[in-house]
Amino acid sequence: MKIPFSPPYINQAVISEVTDALESGWITTGPKVKKLEDLVCEHIGVPNTLCVNSATSGLMLALKWYGIGAGDEVIIPAYTYSATALAVMHVGATPIMVDVNDDFNISVSAIEKAVTKKTKAIMPVDIAGWPCDYDEIQQLVENKKLLFVPNSEKQQQLNRIITIADAAHAIGAKYKNRYVGLTSDITVFSFHAVKNVTTAEGGAVSLNLPEPFNNQEEYDYLRCFSLNGQTKDAFTKSKAGGWKYDIIYPGMKINMPDVLAAIGVAQLPKYFSHILDEREAIYSYYQEFFKTKPWAIIPPYKNEDKLSSCHLYALRIKDISEEQRDIIIDAISKEGVAVNVHFQPLPLLTLFKNMGYDIVNYPMAYANFKSEISLPIYPQLTQDKLKYIVKTVENAVESCLC
Ligand SMILES: *Cc1c(COP(=O)(O)O)cnc(C)c1O
Repeated sequence: MKIPFSPPYINQAVISEVTDALESGWITTGPKVKKLEDLVCEHIGVPNTLCVNSATSGLMLALKWYGIGAGDEVIIPAYTYSATALAVMHVGATPIMVDVNDDFNISVSAIEKAVTKKTKAIMPVDIAGWPCDYDEIQQLVENKKLLFVPNSEKQQQLNRIITIADAAHAIGAKYKNRYVGLTSDITVFSFHAVKNVTTAEGGAVSLNLPEPFNNQEEYDYLRCFSLNGQTKDAFTKSKAGGWKYDIIYPGMKINMPDVLAAIGVAQLPKYFSHILDEREAIYSYYQEFFKTKPWAIIPPYKNEDKLSSCHLYALRIKDISEEQRDIIIDAISKEGVAVNVHFQPLPLLTLFKNMGYDIVNYPMAYANFKSEISLPIYPQLTQDKLKYIVKTVENAVESCLC
């Protein structure tokens, strides 16, 4: 049996919506993008959402909006995808990596130790779709208020460290009965091809800024900034008589095209009504199987405060070395099942190693990584396939351990 890791969910509704965009005479940012933004707001409950061409550029946009740049520090987990750190570096700031918990997510006590006068933002990452300790993080930024040194207009207005969540995995995840998005000042979702909801490439920046901010005004500013700082988008300019525009900010060019937004417009309502539940059912199937295995560490997924969006099934095998984990993955792959490792902690990657980050300072990140295997999770997985996957994993692990 051949089982891919994460094929996109493309049905007739998606194809019809994309065709509609193609046939409409307008293919870049316009009505489909607006529709997708409205759908994200309606489902999650955030006041405003801006769609952009990736989560990476959405994170950069949020950091730039807050006036973060050279000399500033941004606290991120060592256990994440590289984009979290690269976004910080692209705006000229310094990523301060901290260790994580046993649940893969950023450790609040590690954040606390890392805060300095230079800290401008904290970027929690909901690994695998499991929400971070958002209330504790929000409490921490309140507690550290006196240390904060504002040096931009927005920083003066908020007057504390901003929380910008990298929720690339976490659309639809819940924290204390609120969707992730209502849990930080700004939340960035990814619509990359392998994520729970996709537009092939894309991202969404959801605003949830407290008083005195007006989220609609900040949205208008960000929308303009994401389109070269131009006062009129191409859609408005394309109308007769609409030719005149001005450039008012040194903006970025990171807008999402309508052709891609159409995929998300067709997927998103179905995601909230069915697909999330289907992902959860697959997750439960794995949980039921692996919880009886003495060698398995099953991932967190649901407790009284948190509900995962089930983006990844991050299985860990007790007491194995990195080499053993790799042997197990080879054995699984030989049987046609595509698995993955999420993630290689950033300090193991050449770029960050060369910058001086050292994995010995992140023991939990390494421990999580060395024994981790991500299993496929998507609604097209039938019971037959799931049975084949768990048996294949079991055989591979047990033959390696004996
Ligand atoms: C996928 C991912 C990103 C980047 O998303 P893009 O839309 O591809 O830019 C950022 N952070 C994490 C944790 C991711 O998994």
